[in-house]
Amino acid sequence: MKKAKRADQVKIKKPKIRRTWTRSPVTKVKESGKIYKRKRSADEANETDLTRDIEKTYKYCPRCGAEMINKRIDHKQRKVCPVCKFVFYHNPVPAAGVVIEKDNKILLVKRKYEPYKGDWCLPAGFMEYDESPQKCAIRETKEEINLDVELEGLFGVYSGKDDPRTHAVLVMYWAKVKGGEIKPGDDAEEVRFFGKDQVPSNIAFLAHRQIIKEYFEDK
Ligand SMILES: [Zn+2]
Repeated sequence: MKKAKRADQVKIKKPKIRRTWTRSPVTKVKESGKIYKRKRSADEANETDLTRDIEKTYKYCPRCGAEMINKRIDHKQRKVCPVCKFVFYHNPVPAAGVVIEKDNKILLVKRKYEPYKGDWCLPAGFMEYDESPQKCAIRETKEEINLDVELEGLFGVYSGKDDPRTHAVLVMYWAKVKGGEIKPGDDAEEVRFFGKDQVPSNIAFLAHRQIIKEYFEDK
């Protein structure tokens, strides 16, 4: 999914302070390639400590451009603006997706871009600010695989701590195909149904691996 540029992020006027680095910490981490390393197990990902991720967020206030400071608020270290008092609450980002089945097979999408380029996952994506999880799941399905779907109920809710972009909370729905023909969208290289013994070993994201496992456990 495309990330919209927020107007308040674009217009930040940075104060004239000598910077101690030439690249943002976020860029640094990405370029090292470290965060794309896959975790070994779901347990390991669940134990992942994300508290230090706060340092990858705002160096300068997204509202007024002053340098942010660390402050303990509500039992957590948070980035706070000493000038306009803006507090950055580092919340997970909600995402939604679908489980589509046909003849006891599950539909997976091969990822065209990083993270986990070339790996398979379920159709899913991050929620836009103005949409519900249901709308997001339906939109992402149309964008990624060109299918019009109807949601049939909740499959489950998952924590995605091994997504290098953010800590995602993934809401997955059962979905029934209403129309459209399968065609990989801009983000997808290939779309296929997989049976229990055909699931590829390279599944992107531990939450998706868990969903596939749970789907076939019921078969
Ligand atoms: Zn501020």
